[in-house]
Amino acid sequence: MKFASTRNADYRLSFKEAVFQGLSPDGGLFYPLETPDLRGLFESFDSECSFQTVASGMIENLLGDEIPAADAQQLARRAFPFSPAIKRLNDQINILELYHGPSSAFKDFGASFLASSMEYFLKGSDHKAVILTATSGDTGSAVAKAFYDKENIDVVILYPSGRVSPLQEKQMTTLGKNIHALEVEGSFDDCQRMVKDSFTDSELDHIGLSSANSINLGRLIPQSFYYIWAESRLRGDHTTFCVPSGNFGNLTAGLYAKTWGLNVDHFIAATNSNDVVPSYLTSSIYEPKASVQTWSNAMDVGAPSNFERMQQLYSNDVEAMRKDIQGAIVNDDDTLGTMKMISDTYGYEVCPHTAVGIKAALDSGEKSVTVLSTAHAGKFTEVYEKAVGRKASLPDSLIAVKDLEKKSVLISNSSKDLKKKLLQMFS
Ligand SMILES: *Cc1c(COP(=O)(O)O)cnc(C)c1O
Repeated sequence: MKFASTRNADYRLSFKEAVFQGLSPDGGLFYPLETPDLRGLFESFDSECSFQTVASGMIENLLGDEIPAADAQQLARRAFPFSPAIKRLNDQINILELYHGPSSAFKDFGASFLASSMEYFLKGSDHKAVILTATSGDTGSAVAKAFYDKENIDVVILYPSGRVSPLQEKQMTTLGKNIHALEVEGSFDDCQRMVKDSFTDSELDHIGLSSANSINLGRLIPQSFYYIWAESRLRGDHTTFCVPSGNFGNLTAGLYAKTWGLNVDHFIAATNSNDVVPSYLTSSIYEPKASVQTWSNAMDVGAPSNFERMQQLYSNDVEAMRKDIQGAIVNDDDTLGTMKMISDTYGYEVCPHTAVGIKAALDSGEKSVTVLSTAHAGKFTEVYEKAVGRKASLPDSLIAVKDLEKKSVLISNSSKDLKKKLLQMFS
């Protein structure tokens, strides 16, 4: 499989190259150039299939020219010692729980696969990599856990000061060793801009920067695996996935799976008030904005990077995109109300992001919807308590970091400051 830049289809490269470059030099994002028909493979997965089996089959079929079959199996085992799970909420809704990994959020799937792939490609070479990533919360903790103590790799995480949950902050800032956390006086969009600026700054070339946020193909590709795994369990039962979305990596991965033959009717893209994509689907006008703060803060993205991949996939045809994606916007009151309703009615705990998805699914009028549950409720204890009136249970991953001491470096939201810092650390 070859990959290309969304801004220049002639700029082609391998998976390995795309993984280490992260972003194309022209500012574009990498996307799969080929559209293999994998229906036969998907049908070979039955409801007993482990997630590792699905992952291994997908790696072999998509990336077989760079990762041979025997290695694919081993890579799948190393990257995914955890698995998704499916819960039936009611006659209409299934929940695809994606939070059973080391940081208790779905971003573990992407981060862990990226870390294991980089480790695989760096093995036996004397290259070093520096991962530079912006996070609105969950990317940082997932990346920190995934890369912790990996050889020949350093990680620099930028996060917006005061805009991630205290526990998310702990997860990113307490590991130490090769994990460096920078607390930015600004928004997530500032963090993303600073990261983008660094990647296009030739004076930082010698450091060997790579990205690990959802723009990296190494994170995007494995996010398609759980749609395929879920479909193998739900076969015949459903055709719609509802995806709580912010930067739209999760949704884009599902769209790719559909192009490879996944049996899905369409997707619901559920956002909070940061609604530029649902608005685009309605008005045909794309207007990125500054992000606004909501209770589902990992989705507070005003200018989603992956929209560029979505545009590429549908050749800028909003009509075509509308056939596959239905937009839904859920406000903060309904988010909290849904968390409470789910607790009262089903005795089940959901995080605010998952609540956005469930509310969108309930309102969709669809007969059967599978909602991606993107994080453990216990990662958002403050919001949970506000909504439900009692504390959510804590996942093991959080119990461990609760009382550790935060170690981060405060910096301004200017790209110049970040550059100075990077040169200090790695020159
Ligand atoms: C990142 C994140 C999202 C949004 O995912 P995207 O791929 O950026 O659209 C939703 N929920 C949680 C908990 C997240 O961490």
